[in-house]
Amino acid sequence: MVIVMEENATEEEVRNVIKKVEEVGFKAHPDKGENHTIVGVVGEGDREYILSNIETFPGVERVVEITQPFKLASRTFKSKDSIYDIGGIKIGGENFLTIAGPCAVESKEQVLETALFLKEKGVKFLRGGAYKPRTSPYSFQGLKEEGLKILKEVSEETGLKIVTEVMDTREVELVSRYADVLQIGTRNMQNFALLKEVGKLNKPVLLKRGLSATYKEFLMSAEYIISEGNNQVILCERGIRTFTDETRNTLDISAIPVIKRYSHLPIIIDPSHASGDWRYVAPLSKAAVAAGADGLIIEVHPDPKNALSDGKQSLNFEQFSELMDQIKALLEIDSKILA
Ligand code: PEP
Ligand code: MN
Repeated sequence: MVIVMEENATEEEVRNVIKKVEEVGFKAHPDKGENHTIVGVVGEGDREYILSNIETFPGVERVVEITQPFKLASRTFKSKDSIYDIGGIKIGGENFLTIAGPCAVESKEQVLETALFLKEKGVKFLRGGAYKPRTSPYSFQGLKEEGLKILKEVSEETGLKIVTEVMDTREVELVSRYADVLQIGTRNMQNFALLKEVGKLNKPVLLKRGLSATYKEFLMSAEYIISEGNNQVILCERGIRTFTDETRNTLDISAIPVIKRYSHLPIIIDPSHASGDWRYVAPLSKAAVAAGADGLIIEVHPDPKNALSDGKQSLNFEQFSELMDQIKALLEIDSKILA
């Protein structure tokens, strides 16, 4: 359920409602919107009481039932798009987020060279994995803490914000000290212990869709994070497993309008992992912009053929540069703001 407070409800009235919600057994999730404060009511408690009595409380406008299993992630809970402020940069709504960088952190030189190039192109978020989920245990697993330190140094030198993956609950504290946005990878979309752990942070989480996850499962994973108190979730469609074997995965472009219909969370597209081939990254990126995505995460490497991971799908600087110009032109048509 969601309790919609009146426009002029006082803080005390909101506090009283929260107190009552918790007294009857639920967890309360207040969200201060532009016009109304809303209070999400989740968990187990006395539903009948809330449905029949809470509207008599001062400051309460109405109570609405949320029929979807994902509550706090749903549009019923929050009708307007969620917008986050990450160090002065706005994400979601009319803002378009571009995250770019190598698949993996390989060396300081590699990351710095990429970051300086991206900065010149107007990109504000740098991606790079220090902990890499690889299909084979014999593949490069990432530089781990050394990689995080490189990211931090480069961030300090360039001002770019860092997006990096956390794979294990035991590393959440460490990775969150270095990252501006924590990435939860595809393979961990249903690692509920990890979702709960990042849910306790006050830091945006980029949640990638599982290889064969339905929209409902995807949004339920977001719900795990939000229900722990962290409402800054950015969803990422990165291709799903289908019978098509020419591309690494199949980009599910429908995810954009469908997720936007049911949820207020921003959704961005990863065309690199979706296609597995640099040739398809530009067309898929443009399709994503046209379909209303809130951003892109693209793999870029100074020397893709010598990359330690995912070189085949990484753009070189020239290719990325050309793509950014096309994206900027498309964003103008959509009157979106490049974040
Ligand atoms: C990545 O972004 O480097 C990555 C491993 O992505 P995914 O979890 O989508 O495979
Ligand atoms: Mn990769």
